[in-house]
Amino acid sequence: MPITFTCSVDDGHPSDLKMAGLLHRHGLQATFFIPIKNQEGYPVMSPSQIRLLSQDFEIGSHTIDHCYLPSLSLAQARYQVFEGKQKLEDILGKTVSGFCYPGGRFHKTHIDMVKRAGFHYARTTTNLSFSAGTNRFEIPTTCQFFPHQKAVYVRNFIRAMHWSERQAGLRTVLGQDSWIKRMYALFEHAHQNGSIFHMWVHSHNIDDFNLWPELDAFLGHVAANVEPDQSVTNGQLASRFFSH
Ligand SMILES: [Zn+2]
Repeated sequence: MPITFTCSVDDGHPSDLKMAGLLHRHGLQATFFIPIKNQEGYPVMSPSQIRLLSQDFEIGSHTIDHCYLPSLSLAQARYQVFEGKQKLEDILGKTVSGFCYPGGRFHKTHIDMVKRAGFHYARTTTNLSFSAGTNRFEIPTTCQFFPHQKAVYVRNFIRAMHWSERQAGLRTVLGQDSWIKRMYALFEHAHQNGSIFHMWVHSHNIDDFNLWPELDAFLGHVAANVEPDQSVTNGQLASRFFSH
């Protein structure tokens, strides 16, 4: 089995356009999960910028205000999920089928909301996974492209459960002494096993830590090792691995 690559870019920061340029240059697919506003204070792309991005990439919803759903009342959470989809569809003039839980925080009731709103799949921030997960409303990731300490992986490992499936990822991460080596080692694990490598990223982090050269080199490595038809959006991943 060849390796499958997918990438998620979260939060709709204007630097996502730079990210899109980089992905496009390497011939890689991605899904951009975009809130309408970001209550954390980060800017969000304008409607015309989002439309531009949608010409080459899948756009998914990330609520209206980037609120953590468990911190809201059920009525507020429903509004964030349903209206976040509607407002994005109004901007794009087409259906939005993917959702990403802000901060990766959700309860079972929020999964039901996402289903009722008409989304086809949803992504989490569970890391160290090399599969599409157990159902299409809790799709995990392999890693965030970010200079995380080892302790962050350990905490996420404990919190997100599915331990037997993720322990190879944890071992891989703990065996490397720098964050960038961890990215390459996780990719290598997926490559050798013909499994899924799902990277997610905040483009404003890439700005803040000036990681554009590292990201460019890493995506070059990915593109050299992934068959063109195995580079997919999150939506294509969900369709390939889950029947409706
Ligand atoms: Zn987010």
